[in-house]
Amino acid sequence: MGSFLATLVLRWPEERSVLRGRSQCDACHTQLGARDLIPLLSAALAHGRCRMCGAAINPVHWQIELGCVVVGVLAGLAVPGPVGLAGAVFGWLLLTLAAMDLAYFVLPNVLTVTLAIGGLVSGLLGVEPSLQDRLIGGAGGFVALWLIGEGYRLIRKRVGLGGGDPKMLGAIGLWLGWQMLPVVLLLAALTGLSIVLVGMVTGKSAALTDAKPFGALMAIAAYPAWLFLLGSGA
Ligand SMILES: [Zn+2]
Repeated sequence: MGSFLATLVLRWPEERSVLRGRSQCDACHTQLGARDLIPLLSAALAHGRCRMCGAAINPVHWQIELGCVVVGVLAGLAVPGPVGLAGAVFGWLLLTLAAMDLAYFVLPNVLTVTLAIGGLVSGLLGVEPSLQDRLIGGAGGFVALWLIGEGYRLIRKRVGLGGGDPKMLGAIGLWLGWQMLPVVLLLAALTGLSIVLVGMVTGKSAALTDAKPFGALMAIAAYPAWLFLLGSGA
């Protein structure tokens, strides 16, 4: 999952398919063999460089691979079994959305919709929380953030919230149920504000028009919320 998702993120701006085409070095286009494609290990052994041309391999590869390992292990520890697998899927999709938001400031519809469908399916399969709580969370998350974004746009005459953010909170609501959404929003906002504050303390300037990847912040808040919700209830 980690190698696949890292490739998905890195190929996104070029609109290159992840499914077609063999893996190759981005610099010299040498096709990579099995020994170059072991997640994390290949990069560590070759010191993050292509074995043919020595070009540095984009660190996003191993970062997403490692992130996927951490997400999967945490889900398995919190809720062993099939429910943990559902949680890992939730975390992997959140990680991919966060990486997209950090790299390009986009939350692709294909990912937010996949996240939403995953939430619905896991609810239909009987995973906590109940389907009713999830549906209210899906609608409520979307509407709440959409209203905030529209309200800000009307008052300040500028866009304050990306169009993908309400969709993403709606999809998160379909996983966590409506009760967790205020916690996710609060954690995301506090994390964002802390990052700005640390920046200001260390001498970076901050303005109201600075863009922050709110989707990534929601992802960082939503995954621990799932671990807590399902892990403490099991
Ligand atoms: Zn190369």
